[in-house]
Amino acid sequence: MKALDELTFDNRFARLGDAFSTHVLPEPLDAPRLVVASDAAMALLDLDPAVAETPVFAELFGGHKLWAEAEPRAMVYSGHQFGGYTPQLGDGRGLLLGEVYNQAGEHWDLHLKGAGMTPYSRMGDGRAVLRSSIREFLASEALHALGIPSSRALCVIGSDTPVWREKQERGAMVLRLAHSHIRFGHFEYFYYTKKPEQQAQLAEHVLNLHYPECREQPEPYLAMFREIVERNAEMIAKWQAYGFCHGVMNTDNMSILGITFDFGPFAFLDDFDAHFICNHSDHEGRYSFSNQVPIGQWNLSALAQALTPFISVDALKEALGLYLPLYQAHYLDLMRRRLGLTTAEDDDQALVERLLKLMQNSGVDYTLFFRRLGDEPAALAVTRLRDDFVDLAGFDAWAERYTARVARDGAYTEEQRRARMHAVNPLYILRNYLAQNAITAAESGDYSEVRRLHEVLSKPFEEQAGMEQYAQRPPDWGKHLEISCSS
Ligand code: AMP
Ligand code: MG
Repeated sequence: MKALDELTFDNRFARLGDAFSTHVLPEPLDAPRLVVASDAAMALLDLDPAVAETPVFAELFGGHKLWAEAEPRAMVYSGHQFGGYTPQLGDGRGLLLGEVYNQAGEHWDLHLKGAGMTPYSRMGDGRAVLRSSIREFLASEALHALGIPSSRALCVIGSDTPVWREKQERGAMVLRLAHSHIRFGHFEYFYYTKKPEQQAQLAEHVLNLHYPECREQPEPYLAMFREIVERNAEMIAKWQAYGFCHGVMNTDNMSILGITFDFGPFAFLDDFDAHFICNHSDHEGRYSFSNQVPIGQWNLSALAQALTPFISVDALKEALGLYLPLYQAHYLDLMRRRLGLTTAEDDDQALVERLLKLMQNSGVDYTLFFRRLGDEPAALAVTRLRDDFVDLAGFDAWAERYTARVARDGAYTEEQRRARMHAVNPLYILRNYLAQNAITAAESGDYSEVRRLHEVLSKPFEEQAGMEQYAQRPPDWGKHLEISCSS
């Protein structure tokens, strides 16, 4: 285990030079203090979790201190926002502090979000508020615990710094970890600004550092793009299977590593609703829950366009064609597992679709339904779950099909079924109202709730004693919370 001053830096992105990022120092927060830290994320840097409680930790991640080897940089990128191209975005309030490598030889970007103004701040103040920092922290770590690829979060540092949104709030910083912070929008930036040399430099960088196995392929860049398509298909299949709605799938928020990235007004579904829109400024529902699947492909096409200097259009099109079938295969595989099935039958897709339709029409809780389905043998579980449905005849017909399907699937003990299903069906999920409770307490200076919620969500599949209140449907006030898009 390392102390804070023992981190080893190797700032590979910074070395790309000033065409890619600008040196900017963090602007310190007033009275920085630890709100919450993730032990699991600390372990990625080989850090002793106890160091999070030391004053120097809050000073480092609250913008007061810096390691001598850190090289804070604001990255430039662009991207398609809600379908329209914005020629220049960039880190407007976040800084890549540097890249640290751990004892296992993995590199981790340390990215401090809320660190003050940069040349890319446009109209913004360079700050992030406590509310949105807590949401990003909880979501990154909760997604990871569910097995959904995501950037990670080391900590949230709170402060007395006033920040003006719809009302006055307090500034905070979240320290984000990822193997890379390069987005689709990085490639778009160099493509649309017609800087072929830098674009090639960026492509080499990504290939060498993040897709080295593609070097062995006859067409390395094409192999890399294919891999990005595959990873995105798998990530989005997991979002859909677990009811995660990202909310702002602009290409500047899409990671070239295929991890969930840049959290705004995201939400996990409470009641199943295919048309759910978590972002209140998304009036047309471009990023609604079910639209995430085609938007994933749209975003990959935007990346493909930016890669046309390196890869033939036909080859790009062929690689893009992999997305939907791969998505469907991953999704169906996950949904089969959520239903407790170990084999595949042709009608399984229809079985899933029918269930979702029934859940949609009755407003059934998406997470609890699957968890309860695994609590007991199939025939018994469906009789207990029946009460949640309005269309009883419809549910009975589905239940009959399902129990017959389970019987054909094979013989296993009740205990085997429960263990297998509980291992893929979480009991605890980051519901908006749970995050809101933790935020309300934190805003009045009580960080115990955000810490407890983080703890519970770090083991979402394991029933935890005394934590029943985290495994409930939302109360009425928590059902239709308007999550502010300002952050
Ligand atoms: P986001 O919606 O958080 O993905 O941000 C979109 C763009 O706006 C990125 O370039 C951000 O860096 C920038 N941005 C968002 N909020 C702020 C802020 N408060 N100050 C400066 N830039 C911001
Ligand atoms: Mg963003």
